[in-house]
Amino acid sequence: MIFYEKNRGIERMKRRRIEIVSALCIAFSVFPSALPHRHAAGMDYVTVSRGGTTSHVEGRILVEAEDGGVLMLATDGVLWAVQPQELEKRTSDQVPLKMLDRKQLTETVLASLPPGFAAYDTAHYVIFYNTSRGYAQWCGALYERLYRGFYNFWSRRGMKLSDPEMPLIAMVFQDQADYVDHARAELGEASQQIVGYYSLRSNRMMTYDLTGSDQLRNGGPRATSAQLINQVLAQPRAESLVATIIHEATHQLAYNSGLQTRYADNPVWLSEGLAVFFETPDLGNSKGWRTIGAVNYRRLDQFSRYFANRPESSLASLLTDDERLRNSRTAPDAYAESWALCYFLLKKYPREFSNYLSELGKKEPLVYDTPEERLATFRRHIVDDLSEFDAEFIRFIGGVR
Ligand SMILES: [Zn+2]
Repeated sequence: MIFYEKNRGIERMKRRRIEIVSALCIAFSVFPSALPHRHAAGMDYVTVSRGGTTSHVEGRILVEAEDGGVLMLATDGVLWAVQPQELEKRTSDQVPLKMLDRKQLTETVLASLPPGFAAYDTAHYVIFYNTSRGYAQWCGALYERLYRGFYNFWSRRGMKLSDPEMPLIAMVFQDQADYVDHARAELGEASQQIVGYYSLRSNRMMTYDLTGSDQLRNGGPRATSAQLINQVLAQPRAESLVATIIHEATHQLAYNSGLQTRYADNPVWLSEGLAVFFETPDLGNSKGWRTIGAVNYRRLDQFSRYFANRPESSLASLLTDDERLRNSRTAPDAYAESWALCYFLLKKYPREFSNYLSELGKKEPLVYDTPEERLATFRRHIVDDLSEFDAEFIRFIGGVR
């Protein structure tokens, strides 16, 4: 599921809440007349005064708004949408932008967390945890498996993805209370209902130990990680836990591999459809997840129920109207339709879909398409005749078993 923050001009952030979401992503920010920022590849230094706190941010300005606001990528991977009245000072030099390395990043993040957190390294991730180490290791193994699967999947489809600029960050809290304390700053009270999310702002994933497997600590350090994992997977909530972890990690990979661009106009059906396409759990497997692109029966069932009353305009509205996925009333059907459409495109139009994704991946942050432009991009790459395509789509999904 999804949670959106919008930040328009000097308005306070408005929060829109989706009920009982199992996962979410945060996207936001519309600048007044956002202009891509281009200058020599040096560093920018911005002093931001916000909520009584002054922050010195180093990194690169990605976008300048006509009113003087800026969108800045900091060296720790966080995006700062700085409003003109928050911007105290800005300078730049010719020193090439260098993101924090693993050690610097680990120190920076640990310093921002309450005592009791440790960092666990895998090849591509740093996992910050106050759960048992076994649980963090299990999450790390799952992330790495997804990472390999994700890059293989797209490279077989001719997509040229890039490696992440820096290690990917996941935070795993031992219980809901700790997690809510941390997530509240971004999510507000919605954090009570949201069990994990990927933040486009911070580029980090946040979740907590849904299984209560922290109690496994009581088993003492002699419990092997295999035993811990088996206990995790035997929990009644294991399926939604695995799906949530993979869903959010897919978002993070999409935004760090060049498949999608943070703060660009990514159609929500596409972002969510891809995450749902990858999320299918596989609890018979020791990691809880192995397969990419298995039929997502939960979404398929939901789509079948929706189909009885599906309006003729459903496909066009899915492509153009992000509200269908943001509104808690319409979201379950829209997520199901997004899954079905991604599934269909990947099976039947893989080349066209790759070309479509390549074009969208080049989009600049904070530049928004009109509904007509969105439709035109889809029709240019996938198929011109949408109604014929829709009939084929429905026939195909009707035959999925
Ligand atoms: Zn999502």
